[in-house]
Amino acid sequence: MARMIGIDLGTTNCCVAVVEGARPEVIPSKEGSRTVPSVVGFTAKGDRLVGQIAKRQAVTNPTNTVYAVKRLIGRKYNSPEVQKARGLMPYAITEAVNGDVRIRILDKDYSPQELSAVILGRLKAMAEEHLGCDVSEAIITVPAYFDDSQRQATRDAGRIAGLKVARIINEPTAAALAFGLDDESDRTVAVFDLGGGTFDVSILRIGEGVFEVKATSGDTFLGGEDFDQRIVEWLLAEFQQQSGIDLKGDTLALQRLKEAAEKAKCELSLLTQTEIKLPFICSDKSGPKHLSLALTREKLEEMVRDLVERTEDPCREALTLAGMAADEVDDVLLVGGQAKMPLVIETVRRIFGRDPNQNENPDEVVGIGAAVQAGIIQGDIKDLVLLDVTPLSLGLETRGGMFTKLIERSSTIPTRRKKTFTTVMDNQSKVEINVLQGEREIAAHNRSLGKFELVGISPAPKGVPQVEVCFDIDSNGIVNVSARDLSTGKQQKIVVTPSSGLSEREITSIIEDAKVNEEEDRKKAELGRLTSRIEGLLESNIKTFSEFGEMLDKEKQEYVRTVLDSARRAVAGNSVSEATQVLEKLGEVSQILTDVMLYDPNTFQSETDAEVDQESESG
Ligand code: AMP
Repeated sequence: MARMIGIDLGTTNCCVAVVEGARPEVIPSKEGSRTVPSVVGFTAKGDRLVGQIAKRQAVTNPTNTVYAVKRLIGRKYNSPEVQKARGLMPYAITEAVNGDVRIRILDKDYSPQELSAVILGRLKAMAEEHLGCDVSEAIITVPAYFDDSQRQATRDAGRIAGLKVARIINEPTAAALAFGLDDESDRTVAVFDLGGGTFDVSILRIGEGVFEVKATSGDTFLGGEDFDQRIVEWLLAEFQQQSGIDLKGDTLALQRLKEAAEKAKCELSLLTQTEIKLPFICSDKSGPKHLSLALTREKLEEMVRDLVERTEDPCREALTLAGMAADEVDDVLLVGGQAKMPLVIETVRRIFGRDPNQNENPDEVVGIGAAVQAGIIQGDIKDLVLLDVTPLSLGLETRGGMFTKLIERSSTIPTRRKKTFTTVMDNQSKVEINVLQGEREIAAHNRSLGKFELVGISPAPKGVPQVEVCFDIDSNGIVNVSARDLSTGKQQKIVVTPSSGLSEREITSIIEDAKVNEEEDRKKAELGRLTSRIEGLLESNIKTFSEFGEMLDKEKQEYVRTVLDSARRAVAGNSVSEATQVLEKLGEVSQILTDVMLYDPNTFQSETDAEVDQESESG
């Protein structure tokens, strides 16, 4: 039987999980890691790399390595968020003819959906390999604050990757599902989710197996990446002050700064001070320049305090929408890597007046919750019901270009609302229904999901005809809108299938392209995995050989040299079989070198000494 998986498609990392025997479990990658970086890299040779391998090569290939594509998915090029991203990302973000976003890599334009699909395809393959069967359906999580086009774009990404997206669910809801699985007691939970690119907060009621989302709020453009950026800006300024050199235009240096900034930030969640050292960051006439700076937790907190404080308003808004005071919340659940930062934890404590719960692994709860939802749909998990909410209000355009809401944001779905409207002119024979989603009072500032006309209204003075409009949202968030002239009974309706920006033809053609490239991609992924293992072994073997190689007889030395040379060639080549053979030989060489290392009398001696020393210390 084909299986349904749960996917946390994160800005920074993804996690895939499945329900096995009524319990959700994370599916690890071949290399054993439980999350996969949301990174796609394109090499000059035309190879497409995904995950850890792509992340590793980002330093040397920044303009062709795409990360945080979730920040762009389903958005228009002119939106402030995309414009902000253009300033942050080293890769080229361009505008499509229809105003959508494209990412230009090596002269080819990709939609964010296609690139997300590359990541999803990798997760699908990982799950299939792990489970030993086909995986054709998935639950994918999105920030609660994603609007319809962002959700639809995520759905399309799934389709391009060959996955039927059974349901899109909100990330905090997923986290609560994972969190509430073993606990039967009735309670109110706040989920505070600060990830790499987005911030979400949700208030849920959990009781008797029913999860009801009461309210959600958040900021689709606030996350760990913004924290990293602050550190990068500080590093740039400090370095310029010390050396007079501006590194802003140096993409390679910027990528190294970004990596170092994130590393320092994570370290400062545990330590109070850390060193950022980047040797050979650039050079000028006087020679190479090195960057070396100390960063304290206090300084970091000063740099990002306003970012952390930006989480406060959405929390209060979610509480207000749920009609609750902070002290009515029984549990606060922290989700997302950035929520590990002490200043964030302290802020959450202040907002909700209680210690947040940090027991769950914040990187995995969302993926696990998605798998739980898959389990519910497939019938593997019983007695759990998920009642989700609409993230944004829905309504229509009325007189004077105003927005009239029929369904308020945070309404539990499925739901249905009706309202009666009338005409604004005498003998008006038709009305246009412009279905909108958003929170702004002016219709034009909200997103139009679709338009239709109700024609044949009987001639009557303005204000007399009665047109009943009905909005219906099903559990997948699909919106049905109908309008009926109550005097004639005439009715018109539409199913709003929100557009992600890609036409049906484009999606089909991308899927076909992907099929053609599937075998090639699989081969490249396998080759990528092999070469990264070869690189690791090659480095350690070269080091050991340079230290201990002299102790081998001439024949063995020659053999080791030949294998190391062929390993270097295999890394540069593109043959899977050659790489597999070389890896085997490198294993042999490692054994030869380990043996000679262990038989070195000096090494042996010093290890024994060390043991004796330790014993005498502890005794
Ligand atoms: P997520 O999207 O949940 O995987 O969160 C990723 C973000 O969390 C990235 O910006 C990481 O730099 C950040 N992050 C991960 N671990 C830590 C940590 N220990 N302290 C602070 N931030 C972290």
